[in-house]
Amino acid sequence: MTSPHLGLATMDRWRASVLLAVIVSAPAAATVSAVIALPSREQWLSFAILAGLGLIQEETCTAVERTRRLFAVPMPVTMTSVWMMAAALTLPVSLITALSFVLYGHTFVRSWRGTEPVVANRAAYTAAIVTWSAAAAHLALFLGAGSIERFDVAQPRNTLLAILAVAVYMVANLVGAAAGLAIRGEYRFLDMIKRPGGTNLVACNLILGVLTGMLLLERSWFLAGVALVAIALHRASLTRQVEDQAATDPKTGVRNSAAWQLEATRELTRARRQAGQCSILMIDLDHFKQINDTYGHPAGDRVLWQLGHVLRANARAEDIPARFGGEEFVVLLPKVGAPEAAAIAHRLRAAIAAMTVEATDTLDQAVHITNRTASIGIATYPDDGDTVEAILARADHWCYVAKQHGRNRVAGGSAPPYSVAGEEGQRDELG
Ligand code: GH3
Ligand code: MG
Ligand code: MG
Repeated sequence: MTSPHLGLATMDRWRASVLLAVIVSAPAAATVSAVIALPSREQWLSFAILAGLGLIQEETCTAVERTRRLFAVPMPVTMTSVWMMAAALTLPVSLITALSFVLYGHTFVRSWRGTEPVVANRAAYTAAIVTWSAAAAHLALFLGAGSIERFDVAQPRNTLLAILAVAVYMVANLVGAAAGLAIRGEYRFLDMIKRPGGTNLVACNLILGVLTGMLLLERSWFLAGVALVAIALHRASLTRQVEDQAATDPKTGVRNSAAWQLEATRELTRARRQAGQCSILMIDLDHFKQINDTYGHPAGDRVLWQLGHVLRANARAEDIPARFGGEEFVVLLPKVGAPEAAAIAHRLRAAIAAMTVEATDTLDQAVHITNRTASIGIATYPDDGDTVEAILARADHWCYVAKQHGRNRVAGGSAPPYSVAGEEGQRDELG
């Protein structure tokens, strides 16, 4: 999947500055920590064991990791959290940072490089966020226990502390990762917080990390068993991403039609059972053929990718956009009646009209495509029908009506004042 991932040099200055500040903050904290207290011999030994196990696990899984990375889900879960949680239990902040940058440096060089256009600053940002997450968990443990030199497993209080540390790590990691995606302008922060994905695997990793830390403090040889579990978990996590991939349209990053139909059917069944409602938008790009004819099909494909991005970024977290076919998209709006559907449709219409697409024409010259618009038809369950096919047919009808009334407008939806085709579009344009 190709996505507009940017290097720091080509990004907005403020975005690049924020990302760079986060990246640099981790080694800065490590330096402060090292100045306060140099790591002990014991801690260096723990660091070496964790780095060794982490590198063995990652090296064994490079093929799996490359495949996972190619799927480009927003927040891919890595197994590094096992070793980083163990580090939170056993290492000072200076070595926590070192471990994070060693492991992510290795993952970047061996697994991620080449899977996306620019990924170096992503790897560094992730390493920094993971450092801060582990450091926050470390702080929770340290403040709670007074000292974690010897983490006494037998004490009930320490079990609670370990659970707290896992929670702190998870929250810090989630907020940091979502902030990274939001700063890059790829996803909305709140959407990522609401639908993080992979939460179960992260929790498993962190609990495994706590066990690893305990075994490490005991200098137990059973640590080798943990590495095996981490490798097995890493391989198993691929299944979920293969499923995600099978449901995704590669050209636009949104769901494909088959996956969407399944979800729409499920949603309709739910609405029927609860006597609720739900709406569907049919979105058709206006004069899209002109793009292909003027700049070539690759430029048309860039526009389609950007449209997928705009739909993901501007719909609500619970809405499900999909590519219906060609240059037609649908959005499922669970629990939404006609008036709210119209408001969402207008928001999407405006966002599409405002989008800009960087592409290259058939002569490989850079082109800046703007002023692309779409016509949107709305239909709602139960007013417009009670099967997905029936509601889709109504939405398609209203989309056609919107085209007939001059394009770049919204039509349909049974509740006034949106039932009058074209008028809303007209008002929007004048306003
Ligand atoms: P209208 O405003 O009436 O919708 O005009 P239109 O040009 O958007 O519609 P038309 O149905 O005439 O053309 C749709 C075009 O979409 C034709 C087809 O070449 C193009 N298309 C369909 N799928 C793809 C794709 O995956 N990539 C590219 N680049 N073009 C596609
Ligand atoms: Mg069409
Ligand atoms: Mg069209």
